[in-house]
Amino acid sequence: MRVAIVSAMREELAAVLSDIEHGTAEQVAGREFWRGRLHGHEVVAVQARIGKVAAAATATVLAERYQVDVILFTGVAGGLAEGVCRGDVVVASEFLQHDMDASPLFPRFEAPLYGRARFPTDPHWSERLAQAARQALPQAGLHRGLVISGDRFVASAADSRALRDALPDALAVEMEGAAFAQVCLDYGLPYAAVRTVSDRADDTAHGDFQRFIEETASRHSAAIVRALLG
Ligand code: SAH
Repeated sequence: MRVAIVSAMREELAAVLSDIEHGTAEQVAGREFWRGRLHGHEVVAVQARIGKVAAAATATVLAERYQVDVILFTGVAGGLAEGVCRGDVVVASEFLQHDMDASPLFPRFEAPLYGRARFPTDPHWSERLAQAARQALPQAGLHRGLVISGDRFVASAADSRALRDALPDALAVEMEGAAFAQVCLDYGLPYAAVRTVSDRADDTAHGDFQRFIEETASRHSAAIVRALLG
């Protein structure tokens, strides 16, 4: 069993990388892929970089070159739904690209030629991630449901309200998850994702986000991964 652990930013992955034993790095497609053992498991860890294209490229390399058995994403997201607060944890049950719109050819949000807007995550790995999050961060609120992705840092109350109106069941917004979900569906690869809420995707999102990733994001990711694999 080879497990891929992925984040978008250096800050999200740093503590996971420092837990890897006998790690060796390899440059592929401009990224460092770290192979080694993590809490007794064979892993490949990589910083995908930010946005859907970077995510899709990374997922493709993990599937084709590293032939991983599962991709697990750990990182941060903006809280959208009421009650999804900073410091809470969101485990995605499905993903959607909120900036996909090929209407009137296809319904808004539908991924053209896939016949769907929503891409599910793997139920088994999602359950394991939720249990790991509960164990690692017992004081944090835990939410499970739809997470939406787009190539935009959502940082205004108006923008976040528009997303909530269009997609009332969306719990959180980020920039990579739906791309991983789509490529993993293409390859038949299990995929699951956990995000701690760094900001509320509102007018204060930028400042909140910076503080959270510096102080908390890496620790949260590593703690959840340790509870999952340890
Ligand atoms: N490092 C840059 C850009 C960060 S982009 C900066 O300093 O501003 C935000 C990253 O965190 C993305 O990887 C995205 O997945 C996630 N994220 C956190 N809050 C978000 C929000 N409100 N909107 C969109 N993405 C968010």
